[in-house]
Amino acid sequence: MDLKNLEVWFVTGSQHLYGEEALLEVEKDAKEVAASLNDVPEIPVTVVHKPVMTSSDSIRRLMAEANAHESCIGLILWMHTFSPARMWIAGLNLLNKPYVHFHTQYHRDIPWGEIDMDYMNLHQSAHGDREFGFINTRMRKNRKVIVGHWRDPEALQELAIWMRVAAAWNDSQGARIARFGDNMRDVAVTEGNKVSAQMVLGYEVNAYSLGHLIEHVDAAEEQQINALLEEYEASYRLTDRVREGGAKRQALRESARIELGLRSFLKEGGFKGFTTNFEDLVGLKQLPGLAVQRVMKDGYGFGAEGDWKTAALLRAMKVMNTGLSGGTSFMEDYVYHLDPAGSRILGAHMLEVCESIAAEKPVLDVQALDIGGKENPARLIFTAPAGAAICASLIDLGNRFRMVVSEVEVVDPPQDLPKLPVARVLWDPKPNLKVAAESWILAGGAHHSVFSQALTARYVEDYCEMAGIEYLLIDENTEVRKFKAELRLGEIYYHLARGL
Ligand code: MN
Repeated sequence: MDLKNLEVWFVTGSQHLYGEEALLEVEKDAKEVAASLNDVPEIPVTVVHKPVMTSSDSIRRLMAEANAHESCIGLILWMHTFSPARMWIAGLNLLNKPYVHFHTQYHRDIPWGEIDMDYMNLHQSAHGDREFGFINTRMRKNRKVIVGHWRDPEALQELAIWMRVAAAWNDSQGARIARFGDNMRDVAVTEGNKVSAQMVLGYEVNAYSLGHLIEHVDAAEEQQINALLEEYEASYRLTDRVREGGAKRQALRESARIELGLRSFLKEGGFKGFTTNFEDLVGLKQLPGLAVQRVMKDGYGFGAEGDWKTAALLRAMKVMNTGLSGGTSFMEDYVYHLDPAGSRILGAHMLEVCESIAAEKPVLDVQALDIGGKENPARLIFTAPAGAAICASLIDLGNRFRMVVSEVEVVDPPQDLPKLPVARVLWDPKPNLKVAAESWILAGGAHHSVFSQALTARYVEDYCEMAGIEYLLIDENTEVRKFKAELRLGEIYYHLARGL
């Protein structure tokens, strides 16, 4: 995916009060700022300068154009001078794409010896952006506000984050998620309202029987399988039993066949994510482990046990992650280390952890899996590197979606885990395991999450603002008593704000 094919429109507001000369100056400055943004390596999309807006009609037309433009994923709005904000009402009412209010100023510093009233009239975003801020708040518009000079690295970083989230948001609209075999029996948290998700988050989820997948698996040709096995050999450390002539070579061939079938199914249907269900594997010889790990690495969203919310969230976070260092994966809180001297969470899944978070070249093996009642499946085994990470979980509370994000520090396991045949991550949740787990459980966060070492909580927060959904952060400042109050406040707020 090349985010540079996506556009963010740079729109400057002003008015005719200051004369044509001032407007020409505003136009020149805005062009320079927009061009400069395109030169910043961290800015992932193409910034397109648009003419300075001075009337309600031109703003309304521009917003309608933005709505209809396929490549436009959002707008940057900046009031270089004062722009009486009633002229923005009609346009903002129409706009259905995300926008950021960039509260910047052309000159960073006040020219103390030179400043006069002409300068004051031209460089007054401190004043004009407050008028624009008011109308957005008056209209209850969700938007991001970024404050800082347009060359300030912190402001640019915030802008880059917002753009990546806008790209993910754009990608979600109309995205198709395939759910093989529906939900896994009685599990609660993986359920949810798919109509609500389509209305609020933009993607559609539909169930497919395994028969659809099997057709593609059966169609895989021997020579494609051989080529894929060669790719495995070049990419991973194969154990003796899966090497050519090894006892489990045939199981690896079967896994390659499943991968080819899965890729073919996903491509043909234009899917961006999918879920599996280990209680419904009719026609498959083994639970797709390696195949899922490998397609996740290529950007597909995935959720186990029918978890479509996590599949779609993973896809969105994979889009945000495009081109950044560090990976993003489906994850599950699995086992605790409750030593008071250093409590930890061991994250893993039965098999399906994305190799984008591997610290080293993964081991490829076939081993027993005592769940699912199928033949032994192939899987990649590795450990994630130490460093900062987040876990994000999206749940359906019945009347709304809630996102819970936990900031964690990944640590190296204190010892080898020679008998654990799955990919794993060991982390120290902030502020500590007791507070983090109590808060997560009170919030109703799932056992499944999206784990990322490339993204920060800020990305997920921006995503929630775009979607208009609840966002809860568990970080080093979290206190359970205050967190409970936040939960109760959310219940009231969303009940009142959503109405019927
Ligand atoms: Mn699971």
